[in-house]
Amino acid sequence: MSGTDTIAAIASAPGAAGVGVVRVSGPAVPAIARTLLGRAPRPRHAHLLALRDADDALIDRGLLLHFPAPASYTGEHVLELQGHGSAVLLDALLRRVCQLGARLARPGEFTERAFLNGKLDLAQAEAVADLIAARSQAGARAALQSMEGVFSRKVEALLRDLIALRVHIEAAIDFPEEEIDFLADPAIGRRLDAVRAELADLLREAKRGLRLNDGLRVVIIGRPNAGKSSLLNALAGSDRAIVNAVAGTTRDVLRESLSLDGIALELADTAGLRETDDEVEREGVRRAQGELQRADVALLVTDAAHAGADVAWFAALPPSVERLVLINKIDLDSTAAHSEQRAGCRWLWASAKTGTGLDALRHELKQLAGAGSGEGAFSARRRHVLALEQVAAQLDLAATALHANRAGELAAEELRQAQHTLGEITGQYTSDDLLGAIFGSFCIGK
Ligand code: GDP
Repeated sequence: MSGTDTIAAIASAPGAAGVGVVRVSGPAVPAIARTLLGRAPRPRHAHLLALRDADDALIDRGLLLHFPAPASYTGEHVLELQGHGSAVLLDALLRRVCQLGARLARPGEFTERAFLNGKLDLAQAEAVADLIAARSQAGARAALQSMEGVFSRKVEALLRDLIALRVHIEAAIDFPEEEIDFLADPAIGRRLDAVRAELADLLREAKRGLRLNDGLRVVIIGRPNAGKSSLLNALAGSDRAIVNAVAGTTRDVLRESLSLDGIALELADTAGLRETDDEVEREGVRRAQGELQRADVALLVTDAAHAGADVAWFAALPPSVERLVLINKIDLDSTAAHSEQRAGCRWLWASAKTGTGLDALRHELKQLAGAGSGEGAFSARRRHVLALEQVAAQLDLAATALHANRAGELAAEELRQAQHTLGEITGQYTSDDLLGAIFGSFCIGK
């Protein structure tokens, strides 16, 4: 439903040299436009005018554009006033339109109205905020794809297949005498498996989209003195972490954000994961373990002597975390930099001190972050990935109900829940709390 009142905000960064924009949306727009221009504006036409305050004093000279409902960003009547990019002038303009019947918009309220009016679905609306906040070119490109609906269309396609399958199963349940035969039909199992495969593909793409959006979360682990801080410094090109030859120096979690050729990386250097009696250090180890639960990649820094023992730490990681092993300090025994694949993880030989072999590590990290993922790569948020993981679990239960137990009702119920979970991504099913949280994190004027 359209907003019943009219909202206004400065929609450009005030103070930026050049053009400043005040955006207004709602039913009072045609009247506000007529008052400012002295006549009805032509739709989507740039009128050059003197913008005046209530006392007829000149505020600025600028442009007025009217986008009549419903062909506008919000789906309502929208007015854009373009003036000089001065904060003082834009404030005066904003005050003027508020005198004429608008009120100040809350953060994200324009996009929220666009969502409520069906101009965008929820995943697209989130992509607007992600585009504005993008920290890398690849992230911005991916957010643009989601804003254009690439992700939403895939969710919709999956939803359609899921609904069709559910209807099919429910139809059989209505005829109990045929149900047993029907559920034993391998074709129905194959259809469910096809939906699960489609979901697995989408989940993989969404995870990549999350990395493009949030950056790849890399947690560096290893015993004290392995060279973790040195590596963080070498990658970040600064002396943020303290490099020290006394074991146990890195007691807290240090973070560094960096961009590798347009790909965002979040690096966390943790305390070594050793058993310790030191209270402060034990806290550091606890935090390191917490970091690892949220990581995309665990990068183990070790050396030739300790690698065999240290890889045992990987056993405690959640299965979704990618593993990399860096054999550091190769300058000490003149080993050549190289890399190989061993037992499902990548091993790299390098020196944080001399920088030898670090390009291969950068390349590896960029691949994991989704570099070169192509034109169609879209951005996603953590809530989307969590929803898709939940759908995967629900489809697994549906498959068990169908294949193992021939329990059509149970399978249909799981599919119904999966449908609901998927619908939350695009906003078919939402709570006010969720909408509040999503749009509240936008900036004002968007
Ligand atoms: P952390 O405790 O794992 O963070 O280890 P640090 O980064 O503080 O390094 C411990 C010591 O090892 C320091 O004296 C570093 O200069 C040294 N070191 C780190 N990387 C290398 C390397 O590649 N080669 C050599 N020779 N020394 C290194």
